[in-house]
Amino acid sequence: MMHRRPQPNPGPVRQDSEHRDVVYRIDADDRICFVNDAWLDFADANAGPSGAEGLLGSPILSHISDAETRHIYRLLLDRARAAARPVRFRYRCDSPELRRLLEMHIRALPGGQVEFSSRVLRLEPRAPVRLLDPAARQRRGDPLQICSWCKAVQVQTAWLEVEAAMQRLGASDADLPPLSHGICPACSDRLTRLGGAP
Ligand SMILES: [Zn+2]
Repeated sequence: MMHRRPQPNPGPVRQDSEHRDVVYRIDADDRICFVNDAWLDFADANAGPSGAEGLLGSPILSHISDAETRHIYRLLLDRARAAARPVRFRYRCDSPELRRLLEMHIRALPGGQVEFSSRVLRLEPRAPVRLLDPAARQRRGDPLQICSWCKAVQVQTAWLEVEAAMQRLGASDADLPPLSHGICPACSDRLTRLGGAP
């Protein structure tokens, strides 16, 4: 894909950017060395870090807050570097008003670099879920665990879609708990297996 300058953002959901592959690369020391324009647009639209400054040169694992997810990233990275084929898996990257199902390809490049490329498989608009809005800062109570990979939310021993979890908890938009990112047993299982696959 040729480089394109980001265009001014016309609205909350940009269909063109939603369907471009989001790509970043790390060098042999696992530091981010490239992000594409689609990545920058995506980060902008989703309240992520603005721009590539401060990001380029930083260790990839420093951007992942929970230890188990870091561990799984490590496994997948090692797997991608050792394998002749890309490591592929599905994951969710939702916004409050959109369920996004993506497929990640992690593949080794010459010189120890690794490329992460995400493609949208499916988009489902929904009534906005304020629990997932990073701008909703007034939160209290016990943190809710959300899986970083499938966006299921833990309610006691069950992992549920966020809407079902809110309903089960009787939580309202006026009284939101904080979110804490982790990994659910199903994702831990499938990704650990993928990372350890021969
Ligand atoms: Zn999960």
